[in-house]
Amino acid sequence: MEPLKFVSTRGGTPPVDLSEAINQGIAADGGLFVPERLPVLSPSQFSPSAALPAIAEILLSAALPAIAEILLAPFADADLAADLAAICREAFDFPAPLVRLERAPGIASVLELFHGPTCAFKDFGARFLATALERRHGPRDGKLTILVATSGDTGAAVAAAFHRRPWVDVVLLYPAGLVSPRQAQQLACWGDNVRTFAVHGTFDDCQRVVKEAFRDPALASTHTLTSANSINPGRLLPQMVYYASASLDIWYREGRKASFIVPSGNLGSVTACLWAREMGLPIGAIVIATNENRTVTEFLEAGAWRPRPSVPTLASAMDVGNPSNMERLRTLFPDRLGDHLTAYLVTDDEIRATIREDDKALGYVWDPHGATAAHVYRRVSADRPDHPWVVVETAHPAKFNEIVEPLIGREIPVPPALARLLSLPRHEEPLQPTLDALRDRLYNNLVGR
Ligand SMILES: *Cc1c(COP(=O)(O)O)cnc(C)c1O
Repeated sequence: MEPLKFVSTRGGTPPVDLSEAINQGIAADGGLFVPERLPVLSPSQFSPSAALPAIAEILLSAALPAIAEILLAPFADADLAADLAAICREAFDFPAPLVRLERAPGIASVLELFHGPTCAFKDFGARFLATALERRHGPRDGKLTILVATSGDTGAAVAAAFHRRPWVDVVLLYPAGLVSPRQAQQLACWGDNVRTFAVHGTFDDCQRVVKEAFRDPALASTHTLTSANSINPGRLLPQMVYYASASLDIWYREGRKASFIVPSGNLGSVTACLWAREMGLPIGAIVIATNENRTVTEFLEAGAWRPRPSVPTLASAMDVGNPSNMERLRTLFPDRLGDHLTAYLVTDDEIRATIREDDKALGYVWDPHGATAAHVYRRVSADRPDHPWVVVETAHPAKFNEIVEPLIGREIPVPPALARLLSLPRHEEPLQPTLDALRDRLYNNLVGR
């Protein structure tokens, strides 16, 4: 079968294969890459033992790389296809367990996406992108420089994924003092081929400097700049894999479709969930949980798309006022998007109350992002108590200890991966929020190393 091509959401560029789409990151006409169509698979393709739930369970628990290979094969061009099994084994080397909430009012599980190197779900996309790019990078290709503006989780996941790969340098810009103390440590603990700049400014300043750098002819003559942005299809496609694994698990165990509640900001993760459902995975309802950034809920309620500056909330990785992946969702479902998913807005007070109450009622400690989904679960499960609901938990609560611990009144044990990063020395340099300052530092490679 011919591998699927990728086209721009704005239709202004010729179709390209996946490797090329990953290299370009964003289409030349400013649109986002989407598969020209989504192939339909069937659950039986994922397990030879569909009739034997006990065996399926054992297979599935260790099966992320195998599921990834089947799910991603239709998209892989010849370059990627040859290495796809190895890429999936290397990228999916940590689990995405489904944990049953025994004390929930209905049938509910948590899909824990925080078992990767930086304890947040962005590890899945970042690791796949890094391993896929590594196979493509030949000995004669020049060194790449990945430039990322980050408000927290993305930068850490990208640094972890590309750390100590000799063909690439990573440059991170984050707003000094505006991320949580543990997030800051996770951005600065790398060294080697990762340079971390603590910028005197806001996240928007970081993003502006990065955008200017990509357009700067002087830097272009000395550095091959690449983005590892969440709009890159190399980060989005692998996110289908954990939805596939969780929905198959429930399908084999309960014989019913899983419904997902997804904490969302830029809408990348929920786009992957919709793609997985279109590909035939046994997924029922898909529900978006947002924080007080109301662009998405307002659009689904009133039909008006009104992007706006983001407002800060406790679920800070979801503070997005103009979610870029809406462009992909509207390409997939040009009219009546609301027939295919629903969205609920969750306030900071509701996040706090959910963390406090569910610790007692369910015996589960949410991080502020997962807490938005857990709050929505209470609402939707009252209407549809017989659905097997899956609450997606996108980060480990220990990453946000300064918010969660006062609410539950005790310390959260730190998982080993996070403990290791917290114990490392910091390597970071202050930076003024200007292109000149960044260019200066990139030319003076020895300064500050
Ligand atoms: C990025 C992030 C989200 C939002 O994911 P999107 O794909 O941008 O919708 C939710 N939770 C955490 C912890 C994140 O880091």
